[in-house]
Amino acid sequence: MTVTSRPAAELDAADPLRSFTLRFEPAPGVRAYFDGNSLGRPVAGTAEDMARFVREEWGTRLIRSWDEGWMTWPERLGDRLGEVALGAAAGQTVVADSTTVMLYKLVRALADARTAQDPQRRELVVDTDNFPTDRYVAEGIAAERGLDLRWVEADPDTGVTAEQVAAVVGERTAVVLLSHVAYRSGFVADAPAITRTVHHSGGHVVWDLSHTVGSVPAQLDDWGADAAVGCGYKYLNGGPGAPAFGYLAARHHDSVRQPVQGWLGRQDPFEMGPGYVPAAGVRALVSGTPPVVSMVPLWRGVELLAEAGIDAVRQKSLALTDHAWSIVDQWPSRLGVQVASPREHQRRGGHLTLRHPSFREALPVLWQRGVIPDFRAPDGLRLGLSPLSTTFAEVEVGLTEIRAVLEELSR
Ligand SMILES: *Cc1c(COP(=O)(O)O)cnc(C)c1O
Repeated sequence: MTVTSRPAAELDAADPLRSFTLRFEPAPGVRAYFDGNSLGRPVAGTAEDMARFVREEWGTRLIRSWDEGWMTWPERLGDRLGEVALGAAAGQTVVADSTTVMLYKLVRALADARTAQDPQRRELVVDTDNFPTDRYVAEGIAAERGLDLRWVEADPDTGVTAEQVAAVVGERTAVVLLSHVAYRSGFVADAPAITRTVHHSGGHVVWDLSHTVGSVPAQLDDWGADAAVGCGYKYLNGGPGAPAFGYLAARHHDSVRQPVQGWLGRQDPFEMGPGYVPAAGVRALVSGTPPVVSMVPLWRGVELLAEAGIDAVRQKSLALTDHAWSIVDQWPSRLGVQVASPREHQRRGGHLTLRHPSFREALPVLWQRGVIPDFRAPDGLRLGLSPLSTTFAEVEVGLTEIRAVLEELSR
């Protein structure tokens, strides 16, 4: 199948989200930014928000601001994100910690809950191509709790299928940890089917939505997910080190205890009383002081997404990756570039990965010329086409340069 290509100018003119591409801080010298899935661009107005925050909330209201709002930002921003992008009803999501730490808290909490009810459930299921931090966290929890790891062999050019999950889960399964959108190929896992399969086996499932949130709509409540995590600094434009979110389905709130029990997840924290008593509801996922400063840009990113609407964002995302694909399809086969991402819309996330043996060498040349994808070993060039900030013309400019650099390197 060859997708027929329309000129970028025509696609940009017809893009209902075109005006959003102008709502980011300009990046002089950047001709094509293909890394919005790794570090989203700052939304215009973020600098003013930060300055106002420092002068007014922090600088003037000082410690009074904790009572005037900051204390509940984790739940408030979590609820808003749940509504805008996660398909999560209020009261199940908080914004806190890094993705890695939140992942640890949720996977360990659910694994402990499951093994406590049924001691033979001592397996954590992970896939071999999940993002490194997910694999390392699972390995750490397995070592710490004496659990066994069960690996699903994932195809790095696609991803984990429901059949593969069905083949490994059973009466020994405690928790299955998977990414919804694979960080390498962009493969979208069949979350509803996989969640059903895991539940049928009696296990819990944790979804990593780092490459999903702000790009592909999630329906955590409808899927029946037990827990989920995701990044604030990718498609949500929260800035480097922006906090993660954590979702824990309401049905687990009374029975699941996260392991990092800190004072701000305690009931009545300012009683400073003896012993830990978890706060009611999802607040118990909070451990220590919320990263309030880092939430300022994230609020703006989430509100921009709300304004555009996640379904419109998904439509544009598919149009952008279609456009990129149609350009690569026209490249001569002697160039030797392959697309290592799913063709099918239903299984395709927000980025495409191209493969070529010279991409490692090509990357610094591209960056120097203002074309900014990223490289994933051994030979992948990732094109993250963040829908709100990327134009069709930018896709064309970037791919033209990628081809030119490959031609130069092969001479
Ligand atoms: C980006 C990413 C992370 C990042 O974790 P941090 O703790 O924010 O560094 C984790 N998991 C996945 C799947 C990712 O894509």
